[in-house]
Amino acid sequence: MRRLAVICMALVACTGVESESTMKTEQPYGLVVHGGAGTLTRSQLSPEYEQQIRAAMAASLAAGHEILAAGGSSTEATIAAVVVLEESPLFNAGKGSVYTWEETHELDASLMVGSDQRAGAVASVRNVRNPIRLAQLVMDDSPHVMLAGEGADQFAREKGVELVDNDWFDTDFRLQQLHQAKQEDNLQGMLNPLGVEKKFGTVGAVAVDMDGELAAATSTGGTTAKRWGRVGDSPIIGAGTYANSGCAVSATGHGEYFIRHAVAHDICARHAYLDVSIKEAADMVVMDVLVRAGGEGGVIAIDRDANVALPFNTEGMYRGYQVGDNDPVVGIFGDE
Ligand code: ASP
Repeated sequence: MRRLAVICMALVACTGVESESTMKTEQPYGLVVHGGAGTLTRSQLSPEYEQQIRAAMAASLAAGHEILAAGGSSTEATIAAVVVLEESPLFNAGKGSVYTWEETHELDASLMVGSDQRAGAVASVRNVRNPIRLAQLVMDDSPHVMLAGEGADQFAREKGVELVDNDWFDTDFRLQQLHQAKQEDNLQGMLNPLGVEKKFGTVGAVAVDMDGELAAATSTGGTTAKRWGRVGDSPIIGAGTYANSGCAVSATGHGEYFIRHAVAHDICARHAYLDVSIKEAADMVVMDVLVRAGGEGGVIAIDRDANVALPFNTEGMYRGYQVGDNDPVVGIFGDE
């Protein structure tokens, strides 16, 4: 429900009735989405492909914004925004997920609600069409925070979420990327964990709703040619996803660095403890801590007042935001 925060002016009796002595301010709401970061330059994207990406970002924003504008929750808004991107073959999540070394797909996702810090996550699921929906069920309908592998797929079957065969996630484009990655592996003697051309492609959304509640959601296929049950930062609460009562963050990038530096949590902690803006906090971690460590990627972040931050230390990041009734803003490259 739409709520108005009534701020009583100092030394004036507060009646809750709007008058000269009271000032009503609406809790601002807003949504930020990302579709991955990496070596994204104008010369690498055809105009058609660029147009498809921008349209998908806009559709994701529209899905989440519709919920927020109607007074719905940030949790539902972030899930709706992420589902749009999971359904698109353009992003490394859901339908467009990358291949493992064995030519299968293992998907990760997580969700966190800021007000009560409830969270749900799934790792290495193989048959769930929309892993973010399963993460929500882990949060709402199980006593756990994270389920992995066959057990998570079993939980999905019991809860009746939509299942698909693993080859439903197959795409020619990602198969080519796998072959290229394996070739590079042979040439270099070691696999480049960043994947071919250092494109990530994880998707995520963060939002604050009209009740001032924050939420963060992230979904991914992980990294191309991953082996041995590798799990990145995306399903790890505090690394790829985090929300509390003042801040929500979703990340994309080289997951091992994001785990080691507890990136999403660190941004919210700096915002709270150093009393710096969400932009300053996100910049400190993405543009300084991660850069010094060698961790490539970016984040989206939002605070309780719907201030947004979208820093990335790569050449580009698929991204967009919409605050209140303002027009949506979508970007890809570093200079926009
Ligand atoms: N962070 C993800 C992972 O390491 C990859 C990505 O952002 O695309 O699994």
